[in-house]
Amino acid sequence: MPNPTVGRIVHYRSGNACLAAVVAKIDEQEPARIAVLHVIVPSGAKTTSRERDVRANQDWAADPGTANRTWHWPEREDDE
Ligand SMILES: [Zn+2]
Repeated sequence: MPNPTVGRIVHYRSGNACLAAVVAKIDEQEPARIAVLHVIVPSGAKTTSRERDVRANQDWAADPGTANRTWHWPEREDDE
């Protein structure tokens, strides 16, 4: 999978949910790692949550227990 770049929208796993998130800063030492991620919060008082040092977990569905607080590219409608 391609590394993220600033401005791309990815998914952030929060509990059992995929949330949309905007990449704000990449980790310079490890390009697959997101240094700062602005997560769009779908309900509640605040609209975004800033998460730091978020690692990639593209295969999270195979082991959902390890997915919390990781990012992955958004699933497509035709994904199995
Ligand atoms: Zn997702």
